[in-house]
Amino acid sequence: MENSEKVCIFCKRNQDEVPLVHLEFKNTSYWICPQHIPVLIHDPSKLSGHLPGAETMQAG
Ligand SMILES: [Zn+2]
Repeated sequence: MENSEKVCIFCKRNQDEVPLVHLEFKNTSYWICPQHIPVLIHDPSKLSGHLPGAETMQAG
């Protein structure tokens, strides 16, 4: 999976609209905006469908 455009994995906004934070997961790069970092931390199962394997991730 190769994303040429950097967009938030959750809301799909790009870096012209929001600051994006780089993630790496399973040797793949992803980007997430600050608004959705709490989702990744506290409720990563909501990323199911956006981030492969997210449904098995445990909340921090
Ligand atoms: Zn977002």
